[in-house]
Amino acid sequence: MAGIVIAGGGDCGIRAAFAARDQGYAGTITVVAAEPGMPYERPPLSKPGELGATEKPICTPERLQDCKIDLLLGVSVHSVDRAGRRVVLSNGAGLDYDKLLLATGAVPRKLACSGGDRALSLRSLGDAQRIYGAAAPGVQITVIGAGLIGMELAAVLIGRGARVTVLEYGPRPLGRNVPEALATRITGQHLAEGVDILCSVQIAEVTKNAVILADGRSIPSDVVVAAIGVVPDTELGRASGLAVENGIRVDRQLRSTDPHIYAAGDCASVLCKDAVYRRFETWQNAQTQGDIAGRNMAGAGLQFGGPVWFWSDQYDLGLQAVGDTVGQASAIRKTDTETELHFYLDGQARLIGAAGLGIGNAVAKDIKLAQKLIEAEVPLDVALLGDPAINLKKMLRPIAVS
Ligand SMILES: Cc1cc2nc3c(=O)[nH]c(=O)nc-3n(C[C@H](O)[C@H](O)[C@H](O)COP(=O)(O)OP(=O)(O)OC[C@H]3O[C@@H](n4cnc5c(N)ncnc54)[C@H](O)[C@@H]3O)c2cc1C
Repeated sequence: MAGIVIAGGGDCGIRAAFAARDQGYAGTITVVAAEPGMPYERPPLSKPGELGATEKPICTPERLQDCKIDLLLGVSVHSVDRAGRRVVLSNGAGLDYDKLLLATGAVPRKLACSGGDRALSLRSLGDAQRIYGAAAPGVQITVIGAGLIGMELAAVLIGRGARVTVLEYGPRPLGRNVPEALATRITGQHLAEGVDILCSVQIAEVTKNAVILADGRSIPSDVVVAAIGVVPDTELGRASGLAVENGIRVDRQLRSTDPHIYAAGDCASVLCKDAVYRRFETWQNAQTQGDIAGRNMAGAGLQFGGPVWFWSDQYDLGLQAVGDTVGQASAIRKTDTETELHFYLDGQARLIGAAGLGIGNAVAKDIKLAQKLIEAEVPLDVALLGDPAINLKKMLRPIAVS
């Protein structure tokens, strides 16, 4: 009997499988996972322990067995026959489906310059093992890209005694999704730890032992890692004729243009509340969308609504952000000398985003409350948001109207 087939054994695909079963789905559930080992979480790959890359399993074989979920490892979905509702796998086998989820994630963007293929990238456990295996004390490592993963990687590598240079095309590190004041503080910590950071530079070439910049400078490099973002893995969606742009297009229930095929996680471009399609690349989003897709394939009618949340750990600093944190903050709250939160309001004084930085988990509770405030969609008093004496929890109560 045709059941649910899930292409991709990352956080999103595995979460979807459990969610479908939890929703009461009684048919077969098969996860087809291209990677050879048991599914693992990716965030620990750039926050490894003393001994190297940290492998944090997403689930145990026992739990999969208890939930009667078949996991095919080291096999990928090769093609989709939409009319026959059947996928063909890389080992030649075929699987019929009633519902198919594409949770194929994303792949690292490649450096386009001459010698760019010499650069390593960080997406899989194997990538992490390769990078940390090369990171002996004194080794000169150049990280290209000062986004979250590049900067996390730099923090880990300098901690292992490597000599680390970060090269960034933009005018400052973490320019894409971290408020400038918080990015400046994180960057300051990197500089204090001994990381060299060069911004507004272009890469001309990667040679055997150097990165050559467009202005002619040569950065000696034993190892080069490109951390210049990812591109969604939309190959299956495109080949099977689904609507694809920056990701496989899905509606708020995560259905593609074929009602029997869903897409979720890093590979999906999702219709958001404001009627704009967006793609997210965060662990929580992979979990949330996986959960919704799994339940919907089992008959629920849930809608994705956000807001999306992410975190980053660098040295002892913990960054967290939720929702839309682009532009100028409407209010800044400094709870102590080391902890600050930035709040972003829309035209109706409703919270749409918040970002915070502190030591360890210092901002976690407030970012959780900020998420609740975003979901509540209530107008807020901007002065109270900035006042550290006011508990954010209290602001969840609607403002009294006289
Ligand atoms: C190093 C690193 C650190 C990160 N740190 C953070 C962090 O601190 N905070 C945060 O919020 N997010 C972080 N992220 C992002 C987060 O891990 C991703 O958003 C999340 O893993 C996406 O999950 P996914 O299941 O959609 O995709 P993926 O995890 O990419 O899983 C997709 C899987 O599908 C497989 N696949 C592809 N095509 C096929 C096919 N045809 N058939 C079968 N299988 C296929 C792939 O091999 C892959 O295993 C980090 C990511 C990386 C790489």
